[in-house]
Amino acid sequence: MSAQRIDGKLIAARIKEEVRVGAARLLAERHVRPGLGVVLVGDDPASQSYVRSKGKACEELGMYSETRRCPADTREEELLKLIQEWNNDPRIHGILVQLPLPRTLDEQRIIAAINPDKDVDGIHPVNLGRLVIGMECFKPCTPAGIQELLVRSGHDPAGKHVVVVGRSNIVGKPIANILLQKAPGANAVVTIAHTGARDLAALTREADILIAAIGKAECITGEMLKPGCVVVDVGINRVPDSASPKGYRIVGDVHFASAELVASAITPVPGGVGPMTIAMLMHNTLQAARRFAA
Ligand code: NDP
Repeated sequence: MSAQRIDGKLIAARIKEEVRVGAARLLAERHVRPGLGVVLVGDDPASQSYVRSKGKACEELGMYSETRRCPADTREEELLKLIQEWNNDPRIHGILVQLPLPRTLDEQRIIAAINPDKDVDGIHPVNLGRLVIGMECFKPCTPAGIQELLVRSGHDPAGKHVVVVGRSNIVGKPIANILLQKAPGANAVVTIAHTGARDLAALTREADILIAAIGKAECITGEMLKPGCVVVDVGINRVPDSASPKGYRIVGDVHFASAELVASAITPVPGGVGPMTIAMLMHNTLQAARRFAA
């Protein structure tokens, strides 16, 4: 029997609708329209498309947005100045620096310049520190989306053994920390695997919930899974496909066809974790605007 497909598009649409209603209420009651500032440096096509989607989502949900597109050779001082402007702008409640930045820029210095109260991407060291010690914070959007996907699809992580493959600062480490919290929608026993694992399959076969954030096309196969587990595939990988007009198709980090025969539930790629990231960004921006209005 094949696994239940966890529909990220549907769950993301529900969250966005909640945000739209919340934003309209904040505007009516407190005269505050949530606002997001997004800065893109360079012309990476994937980043351009993400930035367009973020602006479009703000418009759909009745939120204010500003997008700055800067050339790849933008100086660090200019970016820091823009962030300072937005830190002081009462129309902007959330600031997002589209990553990755060109190598010539000091990413950590730029992130650290964002006011933590406006860090709706949850990547400022203050927010990540607060996350680790279980204080209220902006959770990074993709990991927050993974938690929402699990909870809203009826797969509460509490008491489950979650194995996260990947330890990046934007996905692996924060999702492990989120699910480790002694809190509703978390309280899991968490293992983190990475390239240092001696026997990856031995670890993944122990997982009640497997989260793959690896960046390698279809690297987790059905035979690496425990029967009946829940699989969350974070990967977005382009593989050549001559049958597609674009010449490629998008696949996850999990080999879907073999995994769906073993798992009880699985997120597809596309249409799983992907749509949740923007939904959670909108959610965090509304939260930031609510705090500003309080
Ligand atoms: P990174 O490249 O930063 O991290 C990948 C992690 O996977 C590393 O910790 C690496 O280990 C580990 N890894 C790589 N190969 C193996 C292996 N063979 N066995 C075990 N561990 C391995 O990637 P990100 O976390 O940024 O992204 C992961 C995937 O998620 C990508 O496909 C990306 O496109 C996607 N993504 C999707 C998002 C969305 O849906 N909105 C948002 C962000 C990312 P080590 O640390 O030892 O090198």
